[in-house]
Amino acid sequence: MKPKVAFYWCASCGGCEEAVVDLNEELLEVANAVDIVFWPVALDFKEKDVDSLPDGSILASFINGAVRNSHQQEMAQLLRAKSQLVVAFGICAQLGGIPGLANLTGAQGIFQEVYRDGVTPATRHRENGYPLSLPEFWDTVVALDRVIAVDYYVPGCPPTPNIIRDALHVLLGPDPPPRGTVLAPDQALCEQCPRKDTRPEKLLVKEFKRVHQVIPDQQTCLLAQGLACLGPGTRAGCNALCVRGNMPCTGCFGPTSRVRDFGAKALSAMASVIDSNEESEIARILDAVPDPVGTFYRYSLPSSLLGRRRME
Ligand code: SF4
Ligand code: SF4
Repeated sequence: MKPKVAFYWCASCGGCEEAVVDLNEELLEVANAVDIVFWPVALDFKEKDVDSLPDGSILASFINGAVRNSHQQEMAQLLRAKSQLVVAFGICAQLGGIPGLANLTGAQGIFQEVYRDGVTPATRHRENGYPLSLPEFWDTVVALDRVIAVDYYVPGCPPTPNIIRDALHVLLGPDPPPRGTVLAPDQALCEQCPRKDTRPEKLLVKEFKRVHQVIPDQQTCLLAQGLACLGPGTRAGCNALCVRGNMPCTGCFGPTSRVRDFGAKALSAMASVIDSNEESEIARILDAVPDPVGTFYRYSLPSSLLGRRRME
């Protein structure tokens, strides 16, 4: 009997699903090694198929996306009950991710923006005598481990093929790491960056620039060139893909194990390189970061110490 595996998406853009397909021909090896019992984006299994499985009969469920409505919570709970292992797959499931930026407002604010004519979907309706219902849309987006216990985390937006491959080998192998492990190297991205030798010992920045304003030198540390590269606070494992493309790291692998609040760590790393003690000059330098939450908490707002904007 091959081990059973499930994939599911909650509040997700679909990129994490594509990342699995990006394994290319190795996907066939995975499909040979396991029995995929649920994967709504690719295979025609229904919720009732999962429901009919004995508890604990799935070896591992890989769940991507944040959780933002009642149906996603129910599906996460169902897969938790049926699975020996649950893996938070991608940074949205791990920390809340991009959908978590919705915590800057609430359900009401989102509905006002989307349904400008004021007509919002009813959550209960009868059609030809049949009851129809929509999931409850929450005010606050949360990471997967706020609604169910999570055994492992695979970071990335989305996880890269090498990280997925390594995670599968580790999880299907005889000696899996302790529960709670983030399945990526526990070191900062700068350690793996091809430009790390050009990063000065004492880094000082007089001006932050945005990516559309400059074409950076392709060899030199991007932070040293004034671009808000979050490599110093971000977990390694992506092989510095963005930096190799001459773009600064935006932090999608989340923090290392030593960091509690990724955004605060990233903000502190940026603040420490500002080359001024003058309040007005510091304010001018920071003006070049017009969206601090989107810059520093882009992937982690729901899991941060703040969690969300206070609406009152
Ligand atoms: S982690 Fe990135 S790729 Fe995956 S669902 Fe979230 S936004 Fe999409
Ligand atoms: S700050 Fe960015 S560019 Fe500089 S060494 Fe770190 S990851 Fe590389």
